[in-house]
Amino acid sequence: MASKEMKKFAAVVCGMDPNLIELGMCPFCGKPVFAEDFKDDLSLKEFEISGLCQKCQDEVFDVPDEAWEK
Ligand SMILES: [Zn+2]
Repeated sequence: MASKEMKKFAAVVCGMDPNLIELGMCPFCGKPVFAEDFKDDLSLKEFEISGLCQKCQDEVFDVPDEAWEK
């Protein structure tokens, strides 16, 4: 399965709209996602897997806001 298909599949499983990922938007908050929003390569990699933006990743993985809002 292509990674894009995987991402869409993951979105559907999580009850999110896979079309948002297609449009370059976060399926969780529905906002556009930019590569420069990510604080490190790990977050960028997570985005490639789940399509989640930095803020939603932080919420999902329960990282305190002050860890990245500097
Ligand atoms: Zn988001």
